[in-house]
Amino acid sequence: MPPEPSSRPVRTRFAPSPTGLLHIGNVRTALFSALFARAGGGSFVLRIEDTDRARSSAAHARALMEDLEWLGLAWDEGPASDAPANDYYQSQRGAIYEHHLERLRAADRVYPCFCTEGELKLERKRQRAAGEPPRYSGRCARLAPQASWRRLEQGEAATLRFRVPRGSSVVFDDLVRGSQSFPTEEIGDFILRRTDGTPAFFFGNAVDDGEMRISHVLRGEDHLSNTPRQLLLLEALELPAPCYGHISMIVGEDGAPLSKRHGSATVADLRGEGFLPAALLAYLARLGHHYEDEGSFEFAELARGFSAERLGRAPARFDRAQLLHWQRVAVDRLGAEDFIAWGFAAEPESPPGAAREAFVDAARPNVLLPRDARHWAGILFAKDLALSAEARRALAEAEPRLLVTAARLAADGVTDYEGLSAALRRETGVKGRALFRPLRAALTGELGGPELARVLALMPPERVAARLRAAAALRGG
Ligand code: GLU
Repeated sequence: MPPEPSSRPVRTRFAPSPTGLLHIGNVRTALFSALFARAGGGSFVLRIEDTDRARSSAAHARALMEDLEWLGLAWDEGPASDAPANDYYQSQRGAIYEHHLERLRAADRVYPCFCTEGELKLERKRQRAAGEPPRYSGRCARLAPQASWRRLEQGEAATLRFRVPRGSSVVFDDLVRGSQSFPTEEIGDFILRRTDGTPAFFFGNAVDDGEMRISHVLRGEDHLSNTPRQLLLLEALELPAPCYGHISMIVGEDGAPLSKRHGSATVADLRGEGFLPAALLAYLARLGHHYEDEGSFEFAELARGFSAERLGRAPARFDRAQLLHWQRVAVDRLGAEDFIAWGFAAEPESPPGAAREAFVDAARPNVLLPRDARHWAGILFAKDLALSAEARRALAEAEPRLLVTAARLAADGVTDYEGLSAALRRETGVKGRALFRPLRAALTGELGGPELARVLALMPPERVAARLRAAAALRGG
């Protein structure tokens, strides 16, 4: 008997099929697997399940590795994004699958099936009409084995099917969902090898988990019903079976499975919007997993607090506000240089060199995404200023003398916050909100934003004077 997974070294894996971009659901599975491995002092393996030749591509495999690398989700074993395919690509593991098929053949656990797609479709239709669950009838299981293998060897098209033992149950403890039991009567003999010679998902996936000595598999709950098949296979192959944990699906705010129509659904989308990898990791680690320490942020901290026992069974609701909360934390942790590189990747000339650090200090609290950084750089450093409707209203409502006086003071060189506000208070009697709102509106065109003192310090005196002059003119002063 192979040893129990709990007594083996912890080895988890992420086994994506490279058929598209990495989406949030998949990357959360990868993250949970990586956290589980780290928490247990084990290894995290990456395996590319590219047996579906028509739908898989090397470009998608590369892209998903680049996404994982960008996120900082390093794998201990697996392919490299800049190297040719190796043993961690299922497409390179044909000999291993053939070896195990031979073993199953020797034990009479596998048989060729000559049923055509059309016949199988008809069979499923009949079953559905009779109110039965669709499953293979076992027709070819009853053919004489020797004759069947001969037909296959002579070139007749056939799949290979696993003989599912009848009259028993597959019982296992799911790490998330607890005790599970599936009667084998409900499992039809399933395909291990397709007619084109490629391994079917159940087979490649189970063989590789066994061969790679994976101790724990965390994957989406859509795979729960596959698990009894894979356990039967592993048992027949005398390969060590992992402990499986099926994690709840992710839904949008409307309760429907998360998809493109909920906004950014792929890592590439979120990266394109400017989300920082650390923010995504800290948020995804909480999507369906509860942390006792609400502040855990770095990967090592997230791993320390991670436990399969704290994975939820209910669907996890994707909440952009929560993601933005973690983005806030991540943006606050960026060094000034990194902040500029992130915020202005598309405009390396902006903001002006000498003002960079002061700009970061001033703008950071108002910046969650690079577009916010560019927005504030535009307001502070561009010559022209567009006034929002609210800003115009604030100017229209300002005490009549305020803006004219401010413009005069600025023209006389009083453009620092302390000096300007003290002089305005003295000369006009205006203070508090009635003073700062119109000033802010005049200088930034908006009513919210960075501290006024920092805004004034960042703007050249002549621009302060020009904006106050323009505002005074608009006010009719
Ligand atoms: N290639 C499968 C998928 O992407 C892997 C499932 C699993 O993790 O076992 O859905």
